Amino acid sequence: MTRLRSRLASSNNALGKGLLTALSGDTLDDSVWEEVEDTLLGADLGVDATTEIVDGLKRRVQVEGAPTTEKLESWLHEELLAQVGPDMDRRIAGTRVGDRPAVIMVVGVNGTGKTTTIGKLARVLVAEDKDILLGAADTFRAAAADQLETWGARVGVPTVRSAKEGADPAAVAFDAVKAGRDNEVDVVLIDTAGRLHNKVGLMDELAKVKRVIEKQSPIDECLLVLDATTGQNGMRQAEVFAQAAEITGVVLTKLDGTAKGGIVVLVQRELGVPVKLVGLGEGADDLAPFDPKAFVDAVLD
Ligand code: GDP
Repeated sequence: MTRLRSRLASSNNALGKGLLTALSGDTLDDSVWEEVEDTLLGADLGVDATTEIVDGLKRRVQVEGAPTTEKLESWLHEELLAQVGPDMDRRIAGTRVGDRPAVIMVVGVNGTGKTTTIGKLARVLVAEDKDILLGAADTFRAAAADQLETWGARVGVPTVRSAKEGADPAAVAFDAVKAGRDNEVDVVLIDTAGRLHNKVGLMDELAKVKRVIEKQSPIDECLLVLDATTGQNGMRQAEVFAQAAEITGVVLTKLDGTAKGGIVVLVQRELGVPVKLVGLGEGADDLAPFDPKAFVDAVLD
């Protein structure tokens, strides 16, 4: 996980520096704790996690007295790690389930990085010798299916799509899962639409895609793709998708471009599911499993 660490370090350690600067004075009075709170909130950790971290640090000071810098770093490490869900199950449904393929549905607002994530994930699975099939159930824009197909070609996996724009997304998803079953592939990855301006329409569409897939196969994984740079806005999107589909994990993209990595903590708390993967760039190799310890190391580096 040194890659996660080095990719995050450049943008993310503003949080660690801010915390250590705030706590580096001779006294730990209210103004210091307020600064710590502001720093944590500014990194999108949210109020609840921020309060717990600050309370935890205060308790330690009460019990152990004023800390050395080294001690402080190790306390911060422990407090942050506890918030990042170190024991959550982050495995991806990446292999056949009995006599059928695993089905992974990928949801999220357009532009968050859904298609790119599917391409990257397909590449990871292909490298593990898995047979993959992609389903382009974002039929609203022909370009979306083209983009998915391009990723498919790049990593050498077929894409099931509709020839015409505006086809029924549920029908494409159905065809993809059927083709996956018929061809005995290991995993079917389904891309979906994410036009948030029509929330009701979007939720109905996702619910229908889900229902129609489930006529032939359970959905093993529903990954929500969130853009880490959108902060609180991303959280509101997450809530909408969580109502429409049963989210099993989050992919946090564009973590290479933000100092607001605290969104990891917030999203896991709010949705009750783990961040399983992180996007660290636009390239085919820029997807990594989320490693809580490496993440905290990078933040506090
Ligand atoms: P979709 O509309 O949700 O399918 O989003 P796309 O997959 O088309 O991605 C939107 C843009 O975000 C593209 O320019 C991607 O290259 C870019 N992108 C996706 N993931 C990442 C990431 O992890 N880091 C960075 N920096 N850019 C990303």
